Amino acid sequence: MSVLVFIDQAEGHIRKNSFEALCYGAKVAEMMGLEAAGLILGQVKDDLSDLGKFGVKKIYQVSKPELDHLDAQVFTQVIGDAVQKTGASLVVFSNSLTGKSVAARLAARLKAGLVSGAVGLPDLSSGFVVKKNVFSGKAFAFVSVNTPVRIIALNPNAYAVSTMDGIAAVEELDIAVSAPKVKVTATNKVTGTVPLGEAELVVSGGRGLKGPENWGMIEELAGLLGAATACSRAVADAHWRPHHEHVGQTGLAIAPNLYVAIGISGAIQHLAGVNRSKVIVVINKDPEAPFFKAADYGIVGDAFEVVPKIIESVKKLKSH
Ligand SMILES: Cc1cc2nc3c(=O)[nH]c(=O)nc-3n(C[C@H](O)[C@H](O)[C@H](O)COP(=O)(O)OP(=O)(O)OC[C@H]3O[C@@H](n4cnc5c(N)ncnc54)[C@H](O)[C@@H]3O)c2cc1C
Repeated sequence: MSVLVFIDQAEGHIRKNSFEALCYGAKVAEMMGLEAAGLILGQVKDDLSDLGKFGVKKIYQVSKPELDHLDAQVFTQVIGDAVQKTGASLVVFSNSLTGKSVAARLAARLKAGLVSGAVGLPDLSSGFVVKKNVFSGKAFAFVSVNTPVRIIALNPNAYAVSTMDGIAAVEELDIAVSAPKVKVTATNKVTGTVPLGEAELVVSGGRGLKGPENWGMIEELAGLLGAATACSRAVADAHWRPHHEHVGQTGLAIAPNLYVAIGISGAIQHLAGVNRSKVIVVINKDPEAPFFKAADYGIVGDAFEVVPKIIESVKKLKSH
């Protein structure tokens, strides 16, 4: 019995949400008196032994090139076989796009209980009870999992990453891989900007900005902070900004350290994609805008007056 943590990678580099999943998995293993190991699929450029610093003793790898790109069905088959081979009784995912698309399939395949969107460590005092977000982060549920194999998909930013001295042993797992049905024929990369899904800082604009011609100040502020830009769905639907910037229930769900929302009302569907941000700053001219309820800091004011002042202040700060 062990804890197996799925490590997500893109183009050979480990995604940052995997570090959190590794620390979480290592902690749960310690609580249960088990060993924790990581599992990574595809070819990797990063040094896997270095992942020992997140508390895992071993990294299993299935390094076949067919696994370089996500095919949820194939990943489910390979991870399912790895669970059986390694005798894992708990599988931890980050509740990222990959985690979301694979964890539920894996649960069905292994007849395992799944807690998707977990936000805390399991309570082992009366079984195995995990706290999770429900209703787009509006409430919590406590889920008791009683199956022999359990799966947790941990919400990004729900568990603190800490490091220690440690080197993990890397072991190739010999697992047959079924032919992927998904073929990646081309990849269009957004260059020159911080990728939104990975960004620590995000500056986001809504319909309050009146039109695409006013995005200059959003981009300038984002550039100064080294932040990614995002927008509400209303803005993407109006073609003011590209759809890959749209965050929320039907867009990208993000969990940066700082989310600055400018001229966005804070509809529940928008909040669903950003309410896991560590710090939320809201700039809105309407003091009754619902977003202020979710804000750590709020500025009631006209974005066209407030944002240039913030830009000036950041410039001043950076010049010292
Ligand atoms: C099924 C479904 C799924 C959805 N999914 C998403 C989703 O994933 N993401 C998403 O964002 N939305 C989603 N929506 C839409 C959502 O309900 C809202 O309509 C949308 O988020 C509103 O965008 P907004 O806040 O930019 O615009 P508005 O609601 O028009 O709000 C504009 C805000 O700007 C403020 N403002 C105006 N002028 C200024 C100014 N000069 N300075 C400062 N503030 C100003 C206003 O006070 C207002 O609060 C979804 C809706 C449905 C029904």
